[in-house]
Amino acid sequence: MRLILLGPPGAGKGTQASGIINKYNIPHISTGDIFRKNIKEGTQLGKKAKEYMDQGLLVPDELVVDLVKDRLTQDDCKEGFLLDGFPRTVAQAEALDTELNNLGWELDRVINIQVSKDSLVERAVGRRICKDCGATYHIKFNPPTIPGKCDVCGGELYQRDDDTEETVSKRIEVYQKQTSPLINYYEEKDILANIDGQQDIDKVFDDIVKVLGSGN
Ligand SMILES: [Zn+2]
Repeated sequence: MRLILLGPPGAGKGTQASGIINKYNIPHISTGDIFRKNIKEGTQLGKKAKEYMDQGLLVPDELVVDLVKDRLTQDDCKEGFLLDGFPRTVAQAEALDTELNNLGWELDRVINIQVSKDSLVERAVGRRICKDCGATYHIKFNPPTIPGKCDVCGGELYQRDDDTEETVSKRIEVYQKQTSPLINYYEEKDILANIDGQQDIDKVFDDIVKVLGSGN
């Protein structure tokens, strides 16, 4: 199964990705991981990517596509993969299509986890983290027994600097602006599956499985 996972920051993509790769036995491919691995191993592509990153520049589409292509041609991707964090733009999506076409492959589905901006803001603004053990809480959805104290270790809970309403709104607006053309692109290809991400985590996963089938 060849899949792409889309969803705004804070939509619970990570959790759903683990569920999908376990159920369908496919590798989870994130561009972040590919970058880190290539840079660490000092590959040609990794060295090129690092040059851009060291200068604080965005890695150009062409190079990102080359890195993804290199990853997709490894053995564990023969039966499928879950792409996460790529493509981000229509140009990348078109380049991906070309590469897949060259390999004689097609995308099966693009899973788009939808969560409203208001909910994403509510989730982020209420998040609290233990400064000692890193356990996470939510003042409304998962409050600690004693306000401000960690249930696990008794440590003090804090709010991340970038979990403010303003920062989160901004982050989501940037995401939506960037990905809405991409969502249209896959909708036109008739492979987009919109999933309601505002339900229980288990229910979200059930809906994904309904779209993808049992996998057998
Ligand atoms: Zn703690």
